[in-house]
Amino acid sequence: MSEPSPFVVHVGDLLSGSGKQRRHRLVVPADWGVAFVEVANGQPIEADLVLTGASGGVVVRGDLAATLLTTCVRCLEESEKRVELEVAQLVEAPGAAGDDGYELVGEALDLEPILRDELMLHGPLRPICEDGCVELEPHTESDLNTDLPDEPGRISPFAVLQDLFDAGD
Ligand SMILES: [Zn+2]
Repeated sequence: MSEPSPFVVHVGDLLSGSGKQRRHRLVVPADWGVAFVEVANGQPIEADLVLTGASGGVVVRGDLAATLLTTCVRCLEESEKRVELEVAQLVEAPGAAGDDGYELVGEALDLEPILRDELMLHGPLRPICEDGCVELEPHTESDLNTDLPDEPGRISPFAVLQDLFDAGD
């Protein structure tokens, strides 16, 4: 057996009747990341949640905070930013959620996919460090042309400018 996940909560007591509530706080390191966004290494995510029994399952509601490390998709510069957001999700009874939703496993509620999705999908999936950041590397499509000789008759915009300067003398 693997270690029990710190994100799994037993909610049998909440399922016995609608409206029962329990506060659940969590400060846990999380190893989550997508292409250009990840939880900053070594920094725990913090969740302050209220779990409420509902007729169809358990409602998870509360605050989530974490420090994310994002990589600019243009210059690849990394930066850390603090993110705080609100969570509100229904976790449905086993077998009830279909493909898109969250559901209980028996009387266990796994908070990890919920908190991970909220955090990873919250920010831009293609972060840019600042407006106007330009790419240092040329686009690959222009690389395809590097072996070709310059087209005859092609006039560079700089040559046109030079002509204007020359004409002005
Ligand atoms: Zn950048």
